[in-house]
Amino acid sequence: MTQRLYQGVSGILDQTASLVANCAAGVGRPVRDEGDDKLHEECGVVAVHNYADAARQAYLALYALQHRGQESAGIATADGQRLANIKGMGLVSEIFTDDVIAKLPGRMAIGHTRYSTTGDSALLNAQPIRVDSTKGLIAIAHNGNLVNLGNLRARLEREGAYFQTTSDSEIIVQLIAHSQAGTLVDAIAGSLAQVEGAFSIVMMTRDRIFAARDPRGFRPLSMGRMKNPDGSDAIVFASESCAFDLLRAEFLRDVHPGELIMVSDDGVTSRQFASGIPQASCIFEHVYFARPDSRIFGRWVQESRDQMGRQLARESGVSADVVVPVPDSGVTAALGYAEEAGLPFRFGLIRNHYVGRTFIEPEQRVRDFGVRLKLNPVHNLLAGKRVVLIDDSIIRGTTSRKIVRMVRGAGATEVHLRISCPPTVSPCFYGVDTPNKRELIAANQSIEEIRRFIEADSLAYLSLEGMLKSCDGGEGNSFCTACYTGNYPTQWLDVEEILPAAAIS
Ligand code: SF4
Repeated sequence: MTQRLYQGVSGILDQTASLVANCAAGVGRPVRDEGDDKLHEECGVVAVHNYADAARQAYLALYALQHRGQESAGIATADGQRLANIKGMGLVSEIFTDDVIAKLPGRMAIGHTRYSTTGDSALLNAQPIRVDSTKGLIAIAHNGNLVNLGNLRARLEREGAYFQTTSDSEIIVQLIAHSQAGTLVDAIAGSLAQVEGAFSIVMMTRDRIFAARDPRGFRPLSMGRMKNPDGSDAIVFASESCAFDLLRAEFLRDVHPGELIMVSDDGVTSRQFASGIPQASCIFEHVYFARPDSRIFGRWVQESRDQMGRQLARESGVSADVVVPVPDSGVTAALGYAEEAGLPFRFGLIRNHYVGRTFIEPEQRVRDFGVRLKLNPVHNLLAGKRVVLIDDSIIRGTTSRKIVRMVRGAGATEVHLRISCPPTVSPCFYGVDTPNKRELIAANQSIEEIRRFIEADSLAYLSLEGMLKSCDGGEGNSFCTACYTGNYPTQWLDVEEILPAAAIS
């Protein structure tokens, strides 16, 4: 049964207290299954202002952003008087059935979909977070990760703040609630200027929507416009522009790094709450997270991935018969590689799109079960072929080895693995769930050692320069590459997480 939390919903008692007990017992904690060796984005956010059925529009937008988080989702709506919030564990379509959406009235909505890390009190920390503050009711949905929360949280608690969740997003709301500023928009701007790290956020009061991006612009956030049936404008925000397509909304622009936008019945206003900080947008959004049909950081993701594949072919071409992507994320780069190398592109691995988050396992788990459940080789395309396999990352190396074995097991005579970004050598602190340095194979082994471990005939990664060149031409052209370089654009990092394996043992 889908677990849901209701707050401010007409006819239903708020459920926060029972939820705390459930979360303490570990309800809803996600576990990575065996074939899961990808990095995970933690969130997608949406906001809708002035649309007749705002909750349904938020639902559609979240549906398009489901790839950014599959563990929990929530929608809050406001009708000028009340601010209702429903969130739950599971996929957007599982939580928001027709009768649940009907409980969310109003012309304004914000929404959130989340991948929560293991050990989180998942439903308690699901978003939007709704807080009754000294500035009135506020709901917030946040994509990213703050890095100076320890200090801020301690200070706020000394000042009397009572936190409902362990989520860093609530720190922003508590800062707003404790602000001495005279107006809400000043309180929000002042609070955002105090937090360090990654945040693309949407907020809602009873009568206004706010959208903001951190000064470095780590995570994407786009603004769009759609028409009501009566011809009036509705303003929408979403983590990725692919959400606008489903709403038939027109893409207007990206929210700028350090910008706070307020939308009310009086129109749209904008201000910079921070400036002069170098931009550091997450380049891994272009490599893997964002959908290829999205335009983020001023650039189409499809274009970047195609260029990464082409550049990879130029840098580390190899004599082969066929180019095969590891689906789905390796597909666009593989198309670019194949075209540049003049080799045929074939779907030699088929992904099962219907693998749920839970499945009935056989009594005796067979070797490589997790990977074989998700991917299956097309024997007639691979047998007797020299295969270039294109993927977008090697994290621990175990999954890559299983895939290489699978391709060879289907009859490939050679397997050459090409990765469309540089080696992942350091963890992310800005909203991406990465293992610590001890578990990242490239942080602890040479490329030749990794090649031997994954049993490929050859292995090559895209160079850092090649990746940056492939993503060139967007908003500011200034990227965070910390997981490839170890050069972090902020301070306040967890030193334990970035120690190499040798220093730990
Ligand atoms: S460390 Fe990597 S994943 Fe994290 S924000 Fe920087 S580029 Fe993106």
